[in-house]
Amino acid sequence: MTKEELTAHIKAEALRLGFDVCGIVKAGPVAQEVATMFNNWIERGCCATMQYLERNCDKRLDPTLLVKGCRSVITVALNYAPRQTIEGIANYAQGKDYHKIVKDRLYLLLQYINKICNVQGRAFCDSAPILERYWATKAGIGYIGRNRQLIIPGKGSNFFLGELLVDIELCYDAPLVGNLCGNCHRCIDNCPGKALSDNGLDANKCLSYLTIEHRGELPENIGEMMENCFYGCDRCQTVCPHNRFSTPNNNSELQPNDTLLQMTKEIWYNLTQEDYNVLFSESAVERCGYEQLMRNIALFRKAQGKDWQQDFTGITEEIK
Ligand code: SF4
Ligand code: SF4
Repeated sequence: MTKEELTAHIKAEALRLGFDVCGIVKAGPVAQEVATMFNNWIERGCCATMQYLERNCDKRLDPTLLVKGCRSVITVALNYAPRQTIEGIANYAQGKDYHKIVKDRLYLLLQYINKICNVQGRAFCDSAPILERYWATKAGIGYIGRNRQLIIPGKGSNFFLGELLVDIELCYDAPLVGNLCGNCHRCIDNCPGKALSDNGLDANKCLSYLTIEHRGELPENIGEMMENCFYGCDRCQTVCPHNRFSTPNNNSELQPNDTLLQMTKEIWYNLTQEDYNVLFSESAVERCGYEQLMRNIALFRKAQGKDWQQDFTGITEEIK
């Protein structure tokens, strides 16, 4: 089989496995300007308490140090655009834990390649020092918007990204030229914490970071910024005009369970550790932990004042 044929088979299999997009790029050190930007971002303290971002910088800036003999980065995207928004939690967290879903499929892809040729590789999804969006742009999948999300032309930004690093040479895609933001600044203007600017994201001010990653107390005014979400924040994506092109995903593993669909504010406010364990046993929300989630809910509840009793529906908006 030629390299061209093998590449075409891999991309076709990635789509058959349920990924929405697949691009392939030659592995190597990231561009110098990207490495400089990343190092400056860390030095400015924009990663807040996520010290793991400061570790393994050499590997983060060169994936060939991460996987021995790595020659190609196969990068994939999986749509998680929801059928409905659920009050309280970010859209990406409605279903089962995406890390496992994406990695399981990537390992099936690796098995498939192994039936054709001898290949060594490793799969990643938000689980290793890899600049995922950089590789997705290099592979021609999309552009990084001012909201720091990967925007896929005609599809939007509600996608999980994953990478399969392999030790075989393949045919490579070209990056897309230009950007999709133009003069738009909607995400910057609508960011509740003013975390976004033309210099990028300052995690210290980002509600997604604060409500999921940050341990310890939060400033009181965070509750007022939460609107309807006390786990994560979707606003820089929901205001993005490119997400008009999002289509709800049909992946059964990414759908919310019945209990989550029936959550009300009253149930959230009275959530016990046992309820939490049942509700999120296979979910990415586990990362937050019960006590931290209840910390967020307490701030949210305080900011709601008396009005919280009036709303007993968990589903805030059916997506037409
Ligand atoms: S997730 Fe929310 S707080 Fe964070 S950058 Fe986006 S809009 Fe701002
Ligand atoms: S909201 Fe506008 S500026 Fe922000 S990422 Fe989307 S297109 Fe770009």
